[in-house]
Amino acid sequence: MDSRLRAQLIPLNGEQNVLGGYDFEFRDEPSSGHCCPICLFVMRNSVQTTCGHRFCKECLLRTFRESNARICPKDRNPIPQEGGFFADVAWDRDVLCLHVKCKRNERGCDWTAQLRHYQEHVKECLYEDVACAKCNEHVQRGLLRDHETSECRNRIVQCEYCEEEFEFWHKEVHDGEKCTRFPVDCPQQCEQTEIPREELESHIRDDCLMTVVACPYNDAGCNFSDKRINLEAHTKESTEDHLRKTWNEAKKELNKLKDTVKEIQAQAQAQAEKDQKEKRCLEILLQRSNDQIKELNEEIRMLKAQNSSFMLAGFRARMEKIEARLIHLERQQCGGIPVDERRNKSRKTIGKFFDRRGKHRSPKKSYSAEGLCDIP
Ligand SMILES: [Zn+2]
Ligand SMILES: [Zn+2]
Ligand SMILES: [Zn+2]
Ligand SMILES: [Zn+2]
Ligand SMILES: [Zn+2]
Ligand SMILES: [Zn+2]
Ligand SMILES: [Zn+2]
Repeated sequence: MDSRLRAQLIPLNGEQNVLGGYDFEFRDEPSSGHCCPICLFVMRNSVQTTCGHRFCKECLLRTFRESNARICPKDRNPIPQEGGFFADVAWDRDVLCLHVKCKRNERGCDWTAQLRHYQEHVKECLYEDVACAKCNEHVQRGLLRDHETSECRNRIVQCEYCEEEFEFWHKEVHDGEKCTRFPVDCPQQCEQTEIPREELESHIRDDCLMTVVACPYNDAGCNFSDKRINLEAHTKESTEDHLRKTWNEAKKELNKLKDTVKEIQAQAQAQAEKDQKEKRCLEILLQRSNDQIKELNEEIRMLKAQNSSFMLAGFRARMEKIEARLIHLERQQCGGIPVDERRNKSRKTIGKFFDRRGKHRSPKKSYSAEGLCDIP
């Protein structure tokens, strides 16, 4: 036994706190002198009075307390407060050398040794009661392992059906309500037994012969409904009826389908026509737009052409006006010179007023510059 476990197991019947003499079965009958005249057991913590009598120390003190007087229980002699009795160590040593049997002798412990060794033995005697660390129940030390593994209400057990682990005392509730795999009998008393609890619902719904069900041809119009066990006979004897009903139902469905197909076809046709119309409209619109673009381009081209010839005409008219004015001016200022020479002369005159960079030169003859600048 490991020391940790031993520490947990406190012996319940040790001798530590027992008052009075040693209540033991001695291997050899102890002499009457070893026995306390008060408790009649073999003396524990022997004391001897001044009158020469021996008792257990506790027994003597108890008689003093109970009689409220310090008198020897054996011969009624007064026992003084100081030095009235003393501890008889030699007597104690004799007592502790007596051989005793284990107190659990009747349970089967065959230990026998001097009384002085009993305290050590009691700590490991297999027949001594100890408290179970799990449930606190008192069990013989030698049976503790069995108790812990197969009796203790707090031992951990595993459910054989669902493999869940729990303390043993939960088992009743676990088996009775919680376990999903615990085998139960069908509440409808069909032939099937030991159905895992979680499958009971589907058993009743899908398999149980005692469940009332409707005929599978219910959709076709058969109104039969009875326990599943009677269904087979019904389907056998109603084959022709079921076929007829199913055929009628199928025909109805077929007609409905045909109508639906027609409807869809009509809708598709209408849509196609609509699409065609829209397409034509769009084509016309597109053609018109193209035509308009062409026209506009033509117009732009013509406008451009008109514009440039118009500008050219305007420019020419202006040039002619300028020339006329020049001639007129030259005639006014240089009278008698032929037109060609005058023109050349006038150009030279203009050159005189501007240098090569176009900078204005101060005119030697102010009339020429004024005349040019006034041209409209
Ligand atoms: Zn005694
Ligand atoms: Zn006495
Ligand atoms: Zn023992
Ligand atoms: Zn226990
Ligand atoms: Zn279970
Ligand atoms: Zn059933
Ligand atoms: Zn039917």
